[in-house]
Amino acid sequence: MLFAGYGRENRNRSENMNEQMVNDIVKEVIAKLQISESPSGKHGIFTDMNDAIAAAKAAQAVVRNMSMDQREKIISNIRRMTKERAETLARMGVQETGMGNVGHKILKHILVAEKTPGTEDITTTAWSGDRGLTLIEMGPFGVIGAITPCTNPSETVLCNSIGMIAAGNTVVFNPHPQAIKTTIYAINMINEASLAAGGPDNVACTVENPTLETSAVMMKHKDIPLLVATGGPGVVTAVLSSGKRGIGAGAGNPPALVDETADVRKAAGDIVNGCTFDNNLPCIAEKEIVAVSSIMDELMHYMITEQGCYLASKEEQDKLVATVLTPKGLNRKCVGRDAKTLLGMIGVSVPDNIRCIVFEGEKEHPLISEELMMPILGVVRAKDFDDAVEKAVWLEHGNRHSAHIHSKNIDNITKYAKAIDTAILVKNGPSYSALGFGGEGYCTFTIASRTGEGLTSAKSFTKSRRCVMTDSLCIR
Ligand code: NAD
Repeated sequence: MLFAGYGRENRNRSENMNEQMVNDIVKEVIAKLQISESPSGKHGIFTDMNDAIAAAKAAQAVVRNMSMDQREKIISNIRRMTKERAETLARMGVQETGMGNVGHKILKHILVAEKTPGTEDITTTAWSGDRGLTLIEMGPFGVIGAITPCTNPSETVLCNSIGMIAAGNTVVFNPHPQAIKTTIYAINMINEASLAAGGPDNVACTVENPTLETSAVMMKHKDIPLLVATGGPGVVTAVLSSGKRGIGAGAGNPPALVDETADVRKAAGDIVNGCTFDNNLPCIAEKEIVAVSSIMDELMHYMITEQGCYLASKEEQDKLVATVLTPKGLNRKCVGRDAKTLLGMIGVSVPDNIRCIVFEGEKEHPLISEELMMPILGVVRAKDFDDAVEKAVWLEHGNRHSAHIHSKNIDNITKYAKAIDTAILVKNGPSYSALGFGGEGYCTFTIASRTGEGLTSAKSFTKSRRCVMTDSLCIR
């Protein structure tokens, strides 16, 4: 069956076949053999980090010399396979990490496949004149070392790979150990996509057992010129202390501010939809609300009566604090769980339509000030708009990551935008519209708030190179 495609058409070609054509066919057959013989997936998977980096380096030497069109063929295969296997990837992620929601994870994978920028993001700036022609081109770094979170495991690996390969790099991942099986599946798929497009194996690599030690090897390795960290503050600090160029996509604690001019009923729906998406795992998701006092009760009313919110009593809040927070930080067994499960953990039984836990509290309340990554929305009362801005800025903790506002007053929106100074600010919509889901613009799962790239894309993974021809090639 494997050779079926090489029947009549190739017999007709055989008379004129030269060595190059034979080589091309052999390459194609080898690629097909590699795919069919590795259905369970071992492409790009190594036991030793040094071997993974060496393999990615060899692959980069090939990618570097591929045309943009060839690179785009790899990207379009990754997009197609991500869509075809979105459900498998989503199920694996939820099963392995115990976090999130399969339906929402399917949507996230389709979003990655459709809206992550590819080679079209790599552009050239040109000047031509009497003294010649000067270009600024975006060149690859080489092999990128990427660290990925367990909250969006395959989403981040696929999104990073599309952008990094489009830019002419290859990538070695040190993923979260809690999501290693899902990551291996995604990395194998990426290499299958490359081979099927006539590209090399090992365009994305990883190790079977990622640890802090394998991460340290990657961070120190001479063949890794750029590190990209997506995760909490610890990993971003580690990468930025490595002595190498680093892109740091760190933690957030996005507040959603609702002022007295908002469409309060719509705001209630948008905020709860954003907050509960994938059980609040996205770093951009609404983590708490700051509401101006005059509309606070109305907002609570709509969230409870129309949006499936459960109003937690003081006693239930205390039980939640004791359950979801430990002296060492978040209880991992609660991260990315749905509201019904979280309430079940404190002995409260609710119907299936309950999707979020709400309560009123001070901004210092631990369920409000901590980045929880679970559908618990504390609501802080502000006496007026200025007070609301002050409280929201405090709650964002200087992460400069994401914030949201529901308001029809453009002066208020502008004031908030300047004060909170975040990479993302969504106005009058759910947080996920910032990822291009129900909003304009492209998708990413690496939002580099700390180092300033913002929503990363292929161009973030390039270096700027000036190419100058003096006194020629201007034909104006
Ligand atoms: P995490 O920080 O526990 O782990 C992220 C990755 O960093 C993992 O691969 C982990 O093994 C590694 N890591 C952690 N500490 C490290 C260290 N000192 N040295 C080397 N590697 C280290 O985060 P998580 O629970 O997987 O993900 C959730 C966190 O990530 C949240 O804080 C969330 O806001 C953030 N996040 C940010 C973005 C973004 O784009 N800015 C996207 C997703 C998640």
